[in-house]
Amino acid sequence: MELQFDALVVGSGLAGLRAALEIPEGFKVGLVSKVFPTRSHSGAAQGGIGAALSNEEPDSWEWHMFDTVKGGDYLTDQDAAETLAMDAARAVYELEHMGVPFNRTAEGRIAQRAFGGHTRNFGEGPVKRSCYAADRTGRVVLDTLFGKALEKGIHIFSEVYMIDLIIEKGHAAGIVTYDLATGAIHNVKAKAVLIATGGFGRVYKTNSNCFSNTGDGVYLCFRNGTPLEDMEFVQFHPTGIYPLGVLVSEAARGEGGVLKNGLGFRFMPDYAPTLKDLAPRDVVSRAIDTEIRQGRGVNGKDYVHLDLTGLGADKIEEKLSDISSFARIYLGVDSATQPIPVTPTCHYMMGGIPTDLNGRVLGKNGTPIPGLYAAGEAACVSVHGANRLGTNSLLDLVVFGRRAGRAIAQDEKSLHFSDVSRDVVKELTSKINAIKRSNGPKPANLRARMRQIMTDCCSVFRNNDDMVKGLEEIRSIQEQYRSVSIDNRAEKFNTDLLDAIELESLLGLAEAILVSAIVRTESRGAHYREDYPERDDHNWLKHTMVTAGANGLEISFKPVKITKFEPKARTF
Ligand SMILES: Cc1cc2nc3c(=O)[nH]c(=O)nc-3n(C[C@H](O)[C@H](O)[C@H](O)COP(=O)(O)OP(=O)(O)OC[C@H]3O[C@@H](n4cnc5c(N)ncnc54)[C@H](O)[C@@H]3O)c2cc1C
Repeated sequence: MELQFDALVVGSGLAGLRAALEIPEGFKVGLVSKVFPTRSHSGAAQGGIGAALSNEEPDSWEWHMFDTVKGGDYLTDQDAAETLAMDAARAVYELEHMGVPFNRTAEGRIAQRAFGGHTRNFGEGPVKRSCYAADRTGRVVLDTLFGKALEKGIHIFSEVYMIDLIIEKGHAAGIVTYDLATGAIHNVKAKAVLIATGGFGRVYKTNSNCFSNTGDGVYLCFRNGTPLEDMEFVQFHPTGIYPLGVLVSEAARGEGGVLKNGLGFRFMPDYAPTLKDLAPRDVVSRAIDTEIRQGRGVNGKDYVHLDLTGLGADKIEEKLSDISSFARIYLGVDSATQPIPVTPTCHYMMGGIPTDLNGRVLGKNGTPIPGLYAAGEAACVSVHGANRLGTNSLLDLVVFGRRAGRAIAQDEKSLHFSDVSRDVVKELTSKINAIKRSNGPKPANLRARMRQIMTDCCSVFRNNDDMVKGLEEIRSIQEQYRSVSIDNRAEKFNTDLLDAIELESLLGLAEAILVSAIVRTESRGAHYREDYPERDDHNWLKHTMVTAGANGLEISFKPVKITKFEPKARTF
């Protein structure tokens, strides 16, 4: 394996691939991924990518920007929302020209459908803005970009894990990798490192994420002194298949599906009279959990029904075929004739590594850390504020992934290789040997407890007492983790070892989520405090920054960028 690259991209989901494609020819680019690239979670995206193309009805990028800001409960940085919405049409046409097989209208244009929180004329009613390929949009975009990366000759290292990030004298210097096939540990040097390692929904018991979404890149930045932004904002998608959490895309409601409680009553119009079942996700998830808490779950249980029976078998087969097969496979439910049991499921992290509009990672003093970049779900631009709208993540990946790739080229003159002062390979080897020699607790047990605690104390509803107790328990698990052990001592294909390493990331991020969520004594977007049910712009219209300091986690704040839309009461 070559051990030196001009630019190293960690993560081969859409953010990493789009960034890597943008880095110009003269750069030697390495792309490192712990799973085979097309197995990245981006491939699971179902519903679509948002852009105001006006192919099905009139639309405008200003409306899209407004929806993104209001959907984010005004915590969205508005310069980022403007960049996202303005660049969306170009980004989608670019994907089309690369060969992404979008669904088509009768006239041959890219087909579009309605999605939660996307509206016409600043909130008047739903608008068709999501560009889609049936219910496998992420799959086809990921395959297309992967093909382009192969064409470009990017060096791709699959099933190679970043296990440390190296910063020397304030400049990114490279990463330490662990090769699953051989067990070899390498110090890979680079002038620029771009973190595109995705989200960390695996912190929670019920989630829609793939197994590899353990937030390694976010945690390694954090461990190396980078602050994390807005970690308390965890999105719960309203419709996870009960009880597994496997996603049923909002596209199901965009195509006409409705939610019903145990009495068979369609409840969303009571909570969101204008957008109804297509209100933003935080609103719909709270409505479902409120119905359940008030005893109107189906058969007294903790789920409600998603009813697609009005759509007809043909439409379901044509536009939602993966989803209907999930319902059939996991529950034995025929969605054309029977309702699907659903419950909110942890889905997306609004927070993450703070960056500027060009993917440059911002350090503790708010200025870029030379050579360090981030994009995608791992990053916090912050374009999603307190609650992301559906279809805006895929858009974020290709818009800000591209900008991060460009920034590496723009910064070329200031980037350089650094000598690494520590023997990082030796350090990591002894850490791994210690895990292999230990007789302490097993990762699976610690992980199961962590996920249960997070689900119990920091989900759709939260309060101080439960979170403080949860934080104590997470810290006690972190203590036990110090002597974590595994049975598998093999050199090669030791996935148990990686499970143990990933658990350190998950625990560190769980702590960061809780510390941030305890501090924010208001309710905004996905962060709903039972003890502080109102939004409090006077005190809390600011981003939370959490940093790992010498004496534990430190909290600071950053102003929100407001340009066009002053905060208003948020009704749908
Ligand atoms: C089921 C589901 C459906 C969704 N549907 C939509 C949708 O329709 N529209 C939308 O806009 N959004 C959707 N989202 C959200 C969106 O898909 C994700 O936010 C997005 O794909 C994340 O992309 P990414 O490039 O940041 O990371 P990912 O695609 O998650 O990729 C992460 C990459 O990082 C690599 N990696 C991680 N850790 C390491 C490590 N330690 N070392 C090396 N490599 C590492 C992995 O191998 C992987 O390649 C959906 C999400 C889910 C879970």
